[in-house]
Amino acid sequence: MKAVTWNGKRDMRVESVPDPSIVNPHDAILRVTSTAICGSDLHLYNGFIPGMRPGDVMGHEFMGEIVAVGRGCERVAVGDRVFVMCGISCGRCWFCKNTLFSACDNTTPAGSAVVLETMYGHAGAALFGYSHLYGGYAGGQAEYVRVPFADTGCVKVPPEIPDERVLLLTDVFPTGYQAAESCNLQRGDTVAVFGAGPVGQMAIQSAFMLGADKVIAIDSVATRLQMAADQGAIVVDDQKSDVLARLDELSGGRGPDACIDAVGMEAHGTSGTGVIAALDRAKQAIKLQLDRPVALRLAIQACRKGGTVSVPGVYGGFIDKFPMGAMFEKGLRIATGQTHFHRYGRPLLDRVLAGDVDASFVITHRVSLDQLPAAYAMFDEKRDGCVKVIALLPGART
Ligand SMILES: [Zn+2]
Ligand SMILES: [Zn+2]
Repeated sequence: MKAVTWNGKRDMRVESVPDPSIVNPHDAILRVTSTAICGSDLHLYNGFIPGMRPGDVMGHEFMGEIVAVGRGCERVAVGDRVFVMCGISCGRCWFCKNTLFSACDNTTPAGSAVVLETMYGHAGAALFGYSHLYGGYAGGQAEYVRVPFADTGCVKVPPEIPDERVLLLTDVFPTGYQAAESCNLQRGDTVAVFGAGPVGQMAIQSAFMLGADKVIAIDSVATRLQMAADQGAIVVDDQKSDVLARLDELSGGRGPDACIDAVGMEAHGTSGTGVIAALDRAKQAIKLQLDRPVALRLAIQACRKGGTVSVPGVYGGFIDKFPMGAMFEKGLRIATGQTHFHRYGRPLLDRVLAGDVDASFVITHRVSLDQLPAAYAMFDEKRDGCVKVIALLPGART
């Protein structure tokens, strides 16, 4: 079969790789009908996540049709049309039973777990197509993919709904939703969202769904700001204005009730300028410091006293100049972590099917599987107004 493979920093290729097969009784094989590139795939593309090997199959956002199931599968059957949660969770360990799906104890193989345990104390759930650090599972930017724990990870969708209205339920919509939900929003609240990429857009949509009165989007890319404005957000171009002063102004001098960092470790646009940002970039380049917490620092600085800083943006390692003093002095609450995808897939699908919400507005580019390597470069360089790329394969409903 054909698949998008990683071959080193900024070297994605479409190659012929062996077809996946059932390995465990709880596996299913999915014929992929559509797949997307995620902002977090760019961390792999740019070589920021260790544990990638040449030939690894990319992609954690995908949907399609089940073509084979292991004998242990009870809830999915051949012929089902499903989307697949991008984290892999067993559904039966202590963490899964407590709906902490991204903390699943059973899906990261021993070899990967040792590295994560050394880095973080404990290992979390594996992810599709996200390095050998996260389990080394092949991803879904391919014609076929093996889905472990298919009963837990697959969500059935009705035949008539187009792929693109469902595909973003695999990751970015639940991620933006959990980020907003973690802010514990009250009616009348003001929320600032740093980074208006796909997760930022989903956080904006979710903040409105959860009752925020005013949502402010901060970015420097015109297409993204326009998309946020179309959703009803107030936009702040961080290249043109003093973000902190503007946020104070828009919140009666108090600061936003909640700040969402939807930028993560590769910050540049969001006030990634100045001496501290340059120092961060230099340190990251020589591996002294893994992450550039530019947006996170700004979010902490901006947030009102007693407010919440919610961090869906991905961080992998260590950061310095973390403003713990500001966190303490202002009594801020921080909410972070990989999304508990399986908590949100079905309920959000119901909202989509009811016509309440639609995440597909962030999709700006539709390509074929063969065009995905070029699309990585376009997305990374934010060329051609690119916010979200999906690839449509044979059998996709449009
Ligand atoms: Zn993703
Ligand atoms: Zn589990």
